[in-house]
Amino acid sequence: MAGLPGQGGSRVHRSRNEHTTAVTCEIHGRGYWSGKEVTVRVHPAPLGTGICLVRCDLPNRPQCVATVDHREDANLRTNLVHGAAQFQMVEHLMAALAALEIDNCIAEINAEELPALDGSSLAFVEALSHAGLVIQAKAKPQLIIRDRYRVGSSDGWVEAMPSKDGECYYEYQLSFDDETPIAPQAFGMELTPDRFIREIAPARTFVTSQQAEKIRATGMASHVTNQDLVVIGPSGPIDNVFRYSNECARHKTLDLIGDLALSGIELIGRFTSFRGGHNLNGRMAKQLAELATEQMALPSATSHETSSHRSHHGMLHSIENETPIPTDRRNAA
Ligand SMILES: [Zn+2]
Repeated sequence: MAGLPGQGGSRVHRSRNEHTTAVTCEIHGRGYWSGKEVTVRVHPAPLGTGICLVRCDLPNRPQCVATVDHREDANLRTNLVHGAAQFQMVEHLMAALAALEIDNCIAEINAEELPALDGSSLAFVEALSHAGLVIQAKAKPQLIIRDRYRVGSSDGWVEAMPSKDGECYYEYQLSFDDETPIAPQAFGMELTPDRFIREIAPARTFVTSQQAEKIRATGMASHVTNQDLVVIGPSGPIDNVFRYSNECARHKTLDLIGDLALSGIELIGRFTSFRGGHNLNGRMAKQLAELATEQMALPSATSHETSSHRSHHGMLHSIENETPIPTDRRNAA
């Protein structure tokens, strides 16, 4: 799949077939917010399934395909709701599935909130990697970013740009307010399964000690200790050590990958977040899903020339002119 010269680069875009897991795998833990024990069992699934989350603890096993259509805004996490099929904090599982290129699976989950684990995607990628991949007989649809799109305001934004060499690149620029103990930092890399496992999956959720106190004061997350995520005080992590000097920016990159995966399509482009959080990620995922739908509805959906043309003249209902919204600039991961 070649890009158009001058519009997203001339390197041949990597294309691949869809994948499912070779066998079932299982991840067990407790939810951060609810404290409930939960097991996620990921099963292989046929083409056309997508990422299907099933509440196997409820009557009639209600299910929800993980797309931005079912996304619900929530504080410090990404939730999915489709009738009785409700799921909290799906982003770390979604990031692992997207990064490992698992396109079709059925994830049976026996509680509303997914397991927090150590605050990272590490246990998810370990289980999914062990399960292995099966290549399925259909090319994975791609959305090649041909233009610049941005959501947010100067205080915080998420941007999609064409990649010069056909890569999928994610970057997070972290710069919180002066009173935060979290130093400005950034992280960016081309997303490949191997690099995700090494460089992003182990990066953990973090909060400042002030945020942790506020959350604990509400009575939620009372079981969560300083080892279950990174709690950052004035002199650094409390009872803990960073896994990377820029672990916070890496975790925000992880969240960005997981949230944009709700667009439901393979993304080819550069995705950068400046102080963004789940809310802005969700808005960008929605724009990307709409762009993908428009391109697929075209008579020659596989023609890059046509879709590119369309993106320049048709869609892109001026994302850059959106009304600025307050960003979750001080929110943690
Ligand atoms: Zn996160």
